[in-house]
Amino acid sequence: MANSKIINKTDIGELLKEWGQEFTVFVPSRENGVAMLVRWDGTDTGFMDWYRNTVKPAKANFFPPMEEMFSFQKGREGYRIELPASDERKQLIFGIRPCDARSLAILDMTFTESYQDPYYLPKRKNAVLIGLGCLRPYDSCFCTSMGISPAESTDVDLMLTDIGDQFLVEEITQKGKELIARASWGEEATEADEARAKEIKEASYHKVTRKIDTEGIKEKLLPAFENQDYWEKVAAKCLSCGICTLLCPTCYCFDINDELVKRQGARFRSWDSCAFPIYTKMPMENPRLEKWRRVRQRVCHKFEFYPMNFGTIACTGCGRCIRLCPVNWDITQTLESVPS
Ligand code: SF4
Ligand code: SF4
Repeated sequence: MANSKIINKTDIGELLKEWGQEFTVFVPSRENGVAMLVRWDGTDTGFMDWYRNTVKPAKANFFPPMEEMFSFQKGREGYRIELPASDERKQLIFGIRPCDARSLAILDMTFTESYQDPYYLPKRKNAVLIGLGCLRPYDSCFCTSMGISPAESTDVDLMLTDIGDQFLVEEITQKGKELIARASWGEEATEADEARAKEIKEASYHKVTRKIDTEGIKEKLLPAFENQDYWEKVAAKCLSCGICTLLCPTCYCFDINDELVKRQGARFRSWDSCAFPIYTKMPMENPRLEKWRRVRQRVCHKFEFYPMNFGTIACTGCGRCIRLCPVNWDITQTLESVPS
């Protein structure tokens, strides 16, 4: 086990205040009844009692639903382009779940490997992630089938486990180690604390009861690609609403639009979804006009194309696409029924 400390839950507010002097602190909160990460108000730590996971994933802190790319003004000499100030504020996200921390590691590949995204990377570079183990996974969660443990993570800087009135805090990265070394709260964990945390982590691993076998899934999907009957059948009840992709922590498609008033305006990028019929509309044709082609794209992108390009499945098993879908479309059922 990594070096670990113990922090009383009653000290978390003071600790966040201390970190708030250096970072913009985000915590889970309910906004209009919807759980999401919001800027900490400086007092409320009640989320420790009710929080399971956010509806809006952590990607929104680094890849917002809508973001200005640049502004422009037309003059006699042509267009003058102005880039927005780079968002390099130091964010500290407290309470991120292991599945969502992994999703950021997946997005890092997307936004760095084929090009360096100038909007995502400055935000990400200065962020600190404080993970909080999940003790009450949803029925829809299947993170363990994706190689993720609900209460352990190496994708965060510090990892917290709820052991009752206290948190056991593990130092995962050098950044995390320095952060906790500077904090005024926390004492060395005892062997008994660590044993208790281990027990709790193992118990939460077994609470994830939804399982899928992804062994060889890429190879199974390849020959199934042309099986129109299969894709029509699995796509039948989908409404093409896009919720599953917009709220998926690893989906990153965006659209680009210009807002223009007279001679000036701005270019924005905003989340888009491959579930929308107009997503691939081009002047001469739309290669994914039929719903089954779009459902196939979503599944194959995550479980076949992404692994081919990046060597990893682009799904963390967070279960959002199952529990937030208005018709309970279930990606695990689809994966289990791919014809061999
Ligand atoms: S959330 Fe459900 S209905 Fe909406 S696009 Fe996704 S699978 Fe289809
Ligand atoms: S596909 Fe579904 S379960 Fe997988 S990461 Fe996206 S929302 Fe979560």
